[in-house]
Amino acid sequence: MVEAAINLHLDEVQSCMESGGGPTLDDWRSGTREEWPAPDGFPRQWGEPHPAAGSGPITWTEAWEVARPWFVDPDAKPFTQTSAHPGEWFQGEYDMVYRWSGTPKIVDLKASIGKGDRSGDYLDQLRMYAWLWWETHDREEQVEGLEIWYLGTGTVKQVNLPSEEEMAALDSELEGLYEKIHSRDPSIEECPPEPSPLRFFERGGIPADTPVHADERARCTRCDYRGICDGSDHDIELPLETRVERFGHAR
Ligand code: SF4
Repeated sequence: MVEAAINLHLDEVQSCMESGGGPTLDDWRSGTREEWPAPDGFPRQWGEPHPAAGSGPITWTEAWEVARPWFVDPDAKPFTQTSAHPGEWFQGEYDMVYRWSGTPKIVDLKASIGKGDRSGDYLDQLRMYAWLWWETHDREEQVEGLEIWYLGTGTVKQVNLPSEEEMAALDSELEGLYEKIHSRDPSIEECPPEPSPLRFFERGGIPADTPVHADERARCTRCDYRGICDGSDHDIELPLETRVERFGHAR
């Protein structure tokens, strides 16, 4: 998976090289840094041109530096590099943001082959990233691409970009959801046991020929809560009828 990630990154470096470095090359050569530069070992605010900066046709060393994405610093504490919605009710943390083309592209890494129901959630996750970028840039800047890199297959899945109208609708929908479940305790009537359909995806997150399970309650079959949920008639085994064990711990 590490080799797959490096190969996909090298594809970006090659694209940057073949594009002559993109529209940011001259600024980078003169020492201009992004407000939030890609972690490259140099200070965030730094007045010197990068030591690899040259002149004339871009070199591979320069392409390596110019293509370098912003990414979560592996030494940072968990979730300390998130982007927060201006309304302070949502935050997300991008894995990588490529900017060498002049417009950002958000990439999410998945240490999997992309088979199964979760690949459907990833589409929503990436579209929410596009919305979050738009919201945190005064609704004036949009990303130009959303990609999931499945490192188990070494392939890229492109995710359709949401339109401005879709992002505005998502904003209202998610704020409504936040108000419903986080700003107060919802009543049980507001939480009907109605599972979403179980979706099928093939390797690389490709939609299967049969997109959803024929049984609309298929999700309940392997749900951790099926023994206590009103939406399932699963008969939980409680031999002692005094305790439940999950992950080796008594509850
Ligand atoms: S058993 Fe699980 S999936 Fe099914 S309705 Fe209950 S909580 Fe939802």
